[in-house]
Amino acid sequence: MGNLLYNRINRRELKERLRQSDEQRVTLSYYKYVQLPDPTAFRDELYLVYQKLGVLGRIYVASEGVNAQLSVPERNFEAFKTAMDGWDFFKNLRLNIAVEDDSKSFFALAIKVRDKIVADGIDDPAFNPSDTGTHLDAENWNRLSDDPDTVVVDMRNHYESEVGHFDNAITPDAATFREELPMVADLLADKKDKNILMYCTGGIRCEKASAYMKYRGFKNVFQLEGGIIEYTRQVQARGLKNKFAGKNFVFDERLGERISSDIIAHCHQCGQPADTHTNCANIYCHILFIQCDACRAQYKGCCSEKCCDFHHLPQEEQKERAKTETFSGSRFGKGVYKAFRKSAQALHAQE
Ligand SMILES: [Zn+2]
Ligand SMILES: [Zn+2]
Repeated sequence: MGNLLYNRINRRELKERLRQSDEQRVTLSYYKYVQLPDPTAFRDELYLVYQKLGVLGRIYVASEGVNAQLSVPERNFEAFKTAMDGWDFFKNLRLNIAVEDDSKSFFALAIKVRDKIVADGIDDPAFNPSDTGTHLDAENWNRLSDDPDTVVVDMRNHYESEVGHFDNAITPDAATFREELPMVADLLADKKDKNILMYCTGGIRCEKASAYMKYRGFKNVFQLEGGIIEYTRQVQARGLKNKFAGKNFVFDERLGERISSDIIAHCHQCGQPADTHTNCANIYCHILFIQCDACRAQYKGCCSEKCCDFHHLPQEEQKERAKTETFSGSRFGKGVYKAFRKSAQALHAQE
């Protein structure tokens, strides 16, 4: 029984299978804050249902709820929705459908049990996460963000806002959400009577962030319903003005989907306009960074001369030398989706 509940095929083979498949798939995400008394049991239940439907993706289950990023075969999409309605708390759930989709966003199904679906670092029992800000749809977001008494805050990490953000948004230099929460509250300490408009990718982080701002004494807190993903959908469906420039960073194989044609970021190596995130090709580094096509060719997809040289050593030698060598990505530990900090970029640009 246990074997049925986990994927037993290696990543390379799964990736190859998906590459060769011409099956149409829908990439989507959803989240739901709901009290789950037994997250592990729910995780297993979800796994069996999703596996039958050929669902791929990355899902976190915690006692506070579920956060999922999925790829669903198009032919099973109705069956997927029916299955979701089978759980009471998923009824009327908003599914955020991706804007760009090449059907190759995930190649395995991984469902993990975590302490929280969004790590917040808050342990004060007086903090009430259900006391959230007012939700805004795209139209009201546009209207209120034009108000001179409004401050727009990007609640994503610096490497996400770097390639795309709302006009006039504050984009804190934070590498994690838990670091960003107190940073934003401190930054806006003298603006407690202003309208605070918060947004993130799909809305899940702002559920908590807006509650946190209210907890810190902010009076007029708003959040973008469904995040950038839902905003973009509404802007297109209703012909509204798009106030988001650049790319929406996403945590799957695609790393980003274009919302407007503006390229607002720069190559971390040469400084030319570029907004394509990539992971350093040296697997012992693997740092996430922005690279233009010319630098990609010159550095063979690596973040530095050092990684490029190392990447071309025989595999055995790499393995041996990796025990003592450090690379740009090494200092961030094993994290895959980390990037150069702005301060680190500035240093890098001077090299
Ligand atoms: Zn470049
Ligand atoms: Zn590197």
